[in-house]
Amino acid sequence: MTSLAEIPGEARCHRYIYQLTFSTKACFRCHEKLLFRRRYVWCRSCRIKTSAKAATWLRGSKLSYRQVFQLLWCWQAKKNPGFAVDVLGVSYTTVKRWYERFRAHLPADMSNSLSGLVEIDESFFGKKKYGHQIIVIGAIEPTTRKIKLRIIPDREQETLENFVQASVATNAIVLTDSHPSYNDLNFLGYRHYAFNHSKGEYANTNQIKNLWGVIKRYMRKLYGCIPTRYLQSILDEWTARQNRPSLFTKPENYLDACLFRIS
Ligand SMILES: [Zn+2]
Repeated sequence: MTSLAEIPGEARCHRYIYQLTFSTKACFRCHEKLLFRRRYVWCRSCRIKTSAKAATWLRGSKLSYRQVFQLLWCWQAKKNPGFAVDVLGVSYTTVKRWYERFRAHLPADMSNSLSGLVEIDESFFGKKKYGHQIIVIGAIEPTTRKIKLRIIPDREQETLENFVQASVATNAIVLTDSHPSYNDLNFLGYRHYAFNHSKGEYANTNQIKNLWGVIKRYMRKLYGCIPTRYLQSILDEWTARQNRPSLFTKPENYLDACLFRIS
């Protein structure tokens, strides 16, 4: 992870996004040297102003290019919106909206099914008494820390088995709690071991239990609660953080992979 102080100045941030957009640092029409201003680039020989943002999903934003880099950095570094407000001098709502935009443009998870030893567990997000409790099922490969997460409507056998078949390679060793819906995994080709939590057998599904805690703490840090309406996007973000960590090491990496994804 780079530090906030390493984020380049406005002209360099602007040049970076211009180059991503037009695959050149010079004028894409005449290849003359460009003047990089805050909101546009100016080609002296064509006498034309171009906006690099307009060709991307950054279009319409009032932030400077450097502010986009700074905001991206804050999001990648898991800083809460209050921190970003102080750094950029923009409103809290703006920060939250941009965090949501960054999530929305993450590439879909194309990673392979998990294999080897895999831990599986479900967790409840949100409070039942407010009527928006959501069940999430997750699988983790402890050796690589790769994960799969999915929101599920119930904990019926069919639902859980569908998730396992979609996320875990057959012949994997699957560790779960002793929920009866997992009982038939052996028949689907998995080597299945169930551990009874009521007897204190937690050790074998530690990693996935730990992940629930981490995600919930992150949501509380960002929003002060567990906002179930952002849940899907936060699960997608977390999957990307675990499965493609390079997207989160510096703003340039994210922009290279995500700036042109149409949503
Ligand atoms: Zn030109």
